[in-house]
Amino acid sequence: MSQIIQLKNHHLDGMSTDFLYHLAINVVDTKDTRDIQSQFGDVRFILTGGTSTRMLELAKYVRKLFGVEDTSDPVDLCKKGHRYAMYKVGPVICVSHGVGSSTFSVVLHELLKLVHYAKCKDPVFLRIGTCGGIGVPPGTVVVTKNAFNGLLRNEHEIAILGERVVRPAQFPESVIKDILAYGARDDDGFQIISANTMGTDCFYEGQGRTDGAICEYSAEDKMKFLQKCHDLGIRNIEMEASMFASVTQKIGVKAGDICVTLLNRLDGDQVDSEKKEEYEHRPFLVLGRYIQELLKK
Ligand code: URA
Repeated sequence: MSQIIQLKNHHLDGMSTDFLYHLAINVVDTKDTRDIQSQFGDVRFILTGGTSTRMLELAKYVRKLFGVEDTSDPVDLCKKGHRYAMYKVGPVICVSHGVGSSTFSVVLHELLKLVHYAKCKDPVFLRIGTCGGIGVPPGTVVVTKNAFNGLLRNEHEIAILGERVVRPAQFPESVIKDILAYGARDDDGFQIISANTMGTDCFYEGQGRTDGAICEYSAEDKMKFLQKCHDLGIRNIEMEASMFASVTQKIGVKAGDICVTLLNRLDGDQVDSEKKEEYEHRPFLVLGRYIQELLKK
């Protein structure tokens, strides 16, 4: 039986309208959402990624996969919100989330409410992104298993009403298995693995870099930290995984995080932009195959 997602907020039951502020989408009657259902009810995949440019590219890529012959730019459905961009291609929406958990969590809450009001069936939330690798060659695609925070704990920590709230942060095994089974091909010329991911709140000190504006530890301390990450099965570092895993796990919605490593952090800190564009397309390939396979079912 297909599932419509249930939110974990009883206060919403008492709201007759709900303005999804950052998406600039107004739910004018929460008890009769036929307008939202007609616009978004067919959505099966919510694809998210950092920049609006990458999401536009992804929307065009998905359009090609679906055999849609249209060379015009897809319309940004959230343009009025001036924060995030959203493109819809049939059952897929591609939404930008900015850098890090704080900007992503805002749009994630609103997207979860959107698919709830639209009564989308069995929606899958997926994030594609770039990351630093630990002990894997640059260009490796990592599908996250357990998400660790910057304290090296497999959980997400958030301040709520002045208290520290800790929630688990794992992605569903079934999604990881399907992404690997359908997304990877032996002749792709790059490695795709599933491993643990660390999601930090800071690109520089939080990820043990020594090239930020502030650094108070030694190069040896940094290497010890990265080795500790490696010992925990962490093979990539980005800035969203623990929040993304914990919010989607709390709601009980399917989700996956697919990132490509731009560098091996055991070799340095600076991101080399030369191969960035080539690497960034690898998650598109993996994601595209996964979506196509799931849509056959
Ligand atoms: N994104 C990150 O968060 N870290 C990196 O090292 C590269 C991309």
